[in-house]
Amino acid sequence: MTHRKKLIAGNWKMNKTSADAAALVRELTAAAGQRTDVEVVVCPPFTAMEGVSRLLDGSNVRLGAQNLHPEKNGAFTGEISADMLRALFVSHVILGHSERRTLFGEQDAFINQKVLAALKNQLRPIFCVGETLVERESGATLTVVQTQLEAGLAGVSREQAADVIVAYEPVWAIGTGKVATTEQAQEVHAFIRTLLTKLFSEPVAQKIRILYGGSMKPANAPELLAQPDIDGGLIGGASLEARSFLELVTAAAVK
Ligand code: PEP
Repeated sequence: MTHRKKLIAGNWKMNKTSADAAALVRELTAAAGQRTDVEVVVCPPFTAMEGVSRLLDGSNVRLGAQNLHPEKNGAFTGEISADMLRALFVSHVILGHSERRTLFGEQDAFINQKVLAALKNQLRPIFCVGETLVERESGATLTVVQTQLEAGLAGVSREQAADVIVAYEPVWAIGTGKVATTEQAQEVHAFIRTLLTKLFSEPVAQKIRILYGGSMKPANAPELLAQPDIDGGLIGGASLEARSFLELVTAAAVK
């Protein structure tokens, strides 16, 4: 079986000034900056990215963005391009987050353009999929996840696919304190891996990390991370404090 290094990514969302971000990242790098057993990624807001990038120099913690625009440059007020992210040594980018989908109206086709732009520019997409509570309760979870996954990854080549990271984030579990049971999460993760096998190939699907996201905390992480198809976590609330985030990194390191 392929060994997939676990990945813990912190999505700071619209939190932390540059100074707050610097303080947090100093704590993280002091404690986990030289770890090689877990991949750690932090995704600060754009305003804090340059300072965080400087502080991450020489550490193994990677820098992620929370979004990008698929065009190279131009008249797109308020947007940020892949080139701009690359210039700050960004390596990962969260795409298709449910907050972007629901609050900012992002549709599958636009998210797909972003995924393709990220891959073309050597940025690893952390590509999010997940169902709402209504969809889960109506039995549509797997159909919704399949539609989002196939649409979001359309046109991704087999060679590019190994750089994709998928995050399964049930929308009803994000920021709510409600976590999916390990069985619910593992079922969808295994389903996603089967879809990835069909889309790309078995060896490629075995390489792709599938993160769980939705109220992951130190208390529930060990059980989730022990599931065969859960390869890490995309963390919102618990990534805003060094202590809880570092506990999640430690939980991911346990074999
Ligand atoms: C997220 O927004 O990606 C997320 C998982 O948030 P939280 O951990 O706060 O539920």
